[in-house]
Amino acid sequence: SEPLLSVEGLSTYFYTDRGVAKAVGDVSYSINPGETLGVVGESGCGKSVTALSVMRLIPEPPGRIVSGKIMFDGTDLLSLSEKQMRHVRGNKISMIFQEPMTSLNPVFRVGDQIAETLILHEDLSKKAARDRSVELLKKVGIPSPESRVEDYPHQMSGGMRQRVMIAMALACNPKLIIADEPTTALDVTIQAQILELMDNLRETTGTAIQLITHDLGVIAETAHKVVVMYAGRVVEQAEVRELFNNPLHPYTRGLMRSIPGLGAHADKERLETIPGMVPSLLNLPQGCRFHDRCRHAFDRCRLEEPQLDPAADGHLVRCWLCQE
Ligand code: SF4
Ligand code: MG
Repeated sequence: SEPLLSVEGLSTYFYTDRGVAKAVGDVSYSINPGETLGVVGESGCGKSVTALSVMRLIPEPPGRIVSGKIMFDGTDLLSLSEKQMRHVRGNKISMIFQEPMTSLNPVFRVGDQIAETLILHEDLSKKAARDRSVELLKKVGIPSPESRVEDYPHQMSGGMRQRVMIAMALACNPKLIIADEPTTALDVTIQAQILELMDNLRETTGTAIQLITHDLGVIAETAHKVVVMYAGRVVEQAEVRELFNNPLHPYTRGLMRSIPGLGAHADKERLETIPGMVPSLLNLPQGCRFHDRCRHAFDRCRLEEPQLDPAADGHLVRCWLCQE
């Protein structure tokens, strides 16, 4: 079947006083209907900018989508007017962010905020919107939703607020939810509950999810396919099982060594972090962008950048070690 979202050769740059920051460079991936795609990488790797590009929420200037195609449900989003794009954002693609406190309005009751979304997009009466709000809070597992709709955001825990955000994201039955670090601010137990909730909702509603995270452990729990990003590039891409069984890029392997109790490293108690820092997007190194942190780097890596090439069925990798 046709992918729901297909991003092809997307590049998004920021034109700053200090130079051009190449935040996203030639990124391609696709998501099938009802599927979860995990996008993983350290902060500054371009995963959020990629998502904001899909939503057409890049501030212009200084940002600009310099090339690419973003096909969603048969339409190239880059060809839409702002008005048409607002319709897509409200009805077809929803976004969930890390800290719900900043996305929820502190002076309105949560029920009114959900109702407002519904009234805006679905033309419901006040009474009907309120009933739907209660229903949505119930759907995301909030106990006593009839009284909880009266709460202000600060009266709820972080986990409850994130459930409210998920309820709002579901309000218009989107085909795709883009969740940017949705559980990063939550403690581990609540994080697992929220991920499970999202996965259950995906199954019952058929919504696809693009799950953005710095934590490969989160991906292991929920994603079908994974895109690993580094310094604006996709460096590896595979089905989740293939990626965890057979990680090929030295960066992906480094990320795996930093997850507790995973795969081949489960016996090795000590967790490792990847030494060094992400290069500046204003001043990217020549050759492979990972070379100064890579323990396998050799001469060619410092001169020429490898392409993203197939290594196995559906498994792509950008590394000279995998090209022979
Ligand atoms: Fe390391 Fe070279 Fe592969 Fe880059 S291309 S990840 S530097 S081995
Ligand atoms: Mg981010």
